[in-house]
Amino acid sequence: MSDLDLIDPAAFAAEKQNLKGRFLLNQLDERVWSHEYFADKQAEVLFTLQGGQDRFGRLFLDLGVTGSVPLVCQRCMQPMQFDFNETGRIVLFADEAGLDSAMLSDEDLEGMVAEETLDVRTLVEDQILMALPFSPRHENCGNAAVGEVNRDKPNPFAVLAGLKSSR
Ligand SMILES: [Zn+2]
Repeated sequence: MSDLDLIDPAAFAAEKQNLKGRFLLNQLDERVWSHEYFADKQAEVLFTLQGGQDRFGRLFLDLGVTGSVPLVCQRCMQPMQFDFNETGRIVLFADEAGLDSAMLSDEDLEGMVAEETLDVRTLVEDQILMALPFSPRHENCGNAAVGEVNRDKPNPFAVLAGLKSSR
């Protein structure tokens, strides 16, 4: 882990700093690269981070994560390209109490308590995990591939027949 990924979030936001970078999936935490959906762990994701202050005077970080990563189609098990471009605003709070009361009045709010240091990589990881589809599938799997899946899948009646004969 390089120190370049560590920021002081409140100072970063107050000074309206920005940061751009890229990660390979396999440079990220295991919870990302060990994800069974990824067909290629060398795929690259890009991120931008922009600090600022909103109209309520609250400090925030605007995070953008984009990538084009190959996933494994959960229907035909062939690779499929998945493009994502996620942006989100994370509002910084001095303490849990401030965060909690803000969350109560705005259910769409994404916020965090500003620690002294924040690992940008963790933000990027969370954003990728949120962007991943629940079950990636081609809109239209190739006919050949679909045929193969159907052959591999046991016919429910055959399974029933097997159960009966084994009694
Ligand atoms: Zn497919």
